[in-house]
Amino acid sequence: MAKIFLYRANTSRNVLEAKCAMTSWVQEATATHFLPRRSNSKHVNAEGYRYPANRRYVTKLLQNLGKPQPKESSINKSQKLMLYNEIVEHSHPGCYFVLPLGLRALEKLTKIIDEEMQMIGGEKIAVPTISPCELWKKSGRWQSTGPELFKLEDRHGQMYCLGPTHEESVTKFLASLSLSYKRLPIRVYQISRKFRDEINPKNALLRGREFEMKDMYTFDIDESSAKETYHTVCHAYSQIFNRLNLPYIKVEGDTGNIGGHLSHEYHLQSTVGEDTLLTCNKCSFKSNKELVGDKERSSFCSLPEKECELKESAGIEIGHTFLLGTKYSSVFNSTYFDKDGKTRLTQMGCYGIGISRLLQASIEVLSTDKQIKWPQLIAPYQICIIPQMSGFKSEEFFKLAEDMSDDLNTLTYLNREIVIDDRIHMTIGKRLYEAKRIGYPHIIIIGEKALGNPAIYEIIDTFLDKEPEFLTLEQLRDKLSTIITI
Ligand SMILES: [Zn+2]
Repeated sequence: MAKIFLYRANTSRNVLEAKCAMTSWVQEATATHFLPRRSNSKHVNAEGYRYPANRRYVTKLLQNLGKPQPKESSINKSQKLMLYNEIVEHSHPGCYFVLPLGLRALEKLTKIIDEEMQMIGGEKIAVPTISPCELWKKSGRWQSTGPELFKLEDRHGQMYCLGPTHEESVTKFLASLSLSYKRLPIRVYQISRKFRDEINPKNALLRGREFEMKDMYTFDIDESSAKETYHTVCHAYSQIFNRLNLPYIKVEGDTGNIGGHLSHEYHLQSTVGEDTLLTCNKCSFKSNKELVGDKERSSFCSLPEKECELKESAGIEIGHTFLLGTKYSSVFNSTYFDKDGKTRLTQMGCYGIGISRLLQASIEVLSTDKQIKWPQLIAPYQICIIPQMSGFKSEEFFKLAEDMSDDLNTLTYLNREIVIDDRIHMTIGKRLYEAKRIGYPHIIIIGEKALGNPAIYEIIDTFLDKEPEFLTLEQLRDKLSTIITI
């Protein structure tokens, strides 16, 4: 059987060679095809069988697929899907384990955010999580934040908090530098765990007490360049959400406890959301309802009352931007030297994206009740290969699945993106159902036709929700070459 696969690989060589992305595959699909690829990087499974380290089997994933579906009606769709499919597991109130599938998605999401932040000159740093109370007293937020601030005391009686954001620390650090106007703007960011002592943590990652967040802090020479930075970061936010294909909405936001004088929020509209958004279909008005308060409609919409179409909807906040002015730079004396050598205060901005919340919010808005739909780019694995159930010639089907997985792994962009569902004691139908439920964007079935001439493989594109396609190996490769990964 291996020979047929190899033969098919060679017949399509010319076509494939035209595609530079495929080059490594073509090279691999020659005589060395079935030799071990990386002899020094092998895993040993329970039976002592050695296989390439980048091959993944469903039975080797930390997953308990047979567990009962959560019944509680109090939990939302994404929470149900994430618990049922072992994306996350509850630990204690407001705190969750992120399991291997979930963490793969979260890491991909982080990578996208890193790329877009660095594209606009963002420099990544790590800020201490434990923040001394003096800093917070100085900004006034030790008192104003309220009981949400996680406070702790060390053995010397010194008080600290676990930072929910880090304006204080970062501004104090910048203030310690002697900066020339030529060095500005400065755009630093970090991606780390943040903490908030929620009175009522709920909806899993949507409102937890510990969460993953990206926070960027920017420092400019004057208001107009700070505004420019503000728009640049907002544009990067649009890029992030567009790359994820998310139907986000940007509204005017409340500056709240962070402060400042210009602020926008990014939301995914969903009934699970805790914010109320007010949007007008006729003018460009979009705002968090909090911000509008008791204001007269005429103060924000220029249209006559009859023409204005205000609509309320619920949103999950996934990002927030603030133009801060000198609110923090004046407190911590973050300054720079201007052209004439005079000392001036920096103009600041701060910008957050709740990464773990974004992960769940995406699942909430894209998925059906029965199937997870990830933003394709961050699906934990792009491809699931399901070989024929055990029975006649099942070893050959299984070998085909492994060879296909090994071959696809040689493509840089698909490396480690493939899982083989090796539970061949189960029917294809049962495994297909589960693969769809977990949300693999592409599912390849190696059924009876794979032993035909030509060999035909069934491929299901779970994102487009179209009928399955029956393709030759060459066609299959063409199709898979369009997958974009991060
Ligand atoms: Zn209006």
